[in-house]
Amino acid sequence: MIDRVPAPGPPRRRARGVQRTALLGMVMGAALLLVAVIVQIIVVERGDRDAAPDRREAAASPAPPPGDLLARGLAFPVRGINLSSIADSFNDARGATRVHNAMDIMAPRGTPVVAVDAGTVERLGNGGAGGITVYQVDQAGRYGFYYAHLDRLAPGLAPGRVVRRGEVLGYVGTTGNAPRSAPHLHFAIYEIGEGRGRWGERPINPYPLWKQQAD
Ligand SMILES: [Zn+2]
Repeated sequence: MIDRVPAPGPPRRRARGVQRTALLGMVMGAALLLVAVIVQIIVVERGDRDAAPDRREAAASPAPPPGDLLARGLAFPVRGINLSSIADSFNDARGATRVHNAMDIMAPRGTPVVAVDAGTVERLGNGGAGGITVYQVDQAGRYGFYYAHLDRLAPGLAPGRVVRRGEVLGYVGTTGNAPRSAPHLHFAIYEIGEGRGRWGERPINPYPLWKQQAD
């Protein structure tokens, strides 16, 4: 009777053990990757989701930029930054029910933030989701410009101050609920004034204003 030579036991067990360890490693790696992706999504979603000056819901589908605003040739609100490095995030979700209704302009902390148009500083804010903020109205009182997450204000800036187009209002920062690692200006335009609306009610997408200038 010929004995079938049994395959050596221990090496096979070792091989199986190595396979199992490799499989476990792959599964754990995939799980860690998934957690990292989810954390990143949460961090991005949380970023200034409540930065609008008003907590009421704003319209999800705003009108295209008004021609009179386009014709003004507004200054870009962050000095030294151009539109090519910016994404249009106006319609992005912020949390479950909110829409961004603004533009985020990433820039190094301390970069000057300038008035997009001539007008008057209506009020200043400090605290809440927007952090240090400037509310500026144009000369006609028709449009409101909102600048949020500022690191600090320009010296002497106060409500009632008349500003020129391009005048420094403050500096890019992360005050409010902006991630500390991602300094940026949250910039929004609202149609305001008699019979038109209040701050936060009638947002206008700023992005196409400079898109047309760039094209
Ligand atoms: Zn924003």
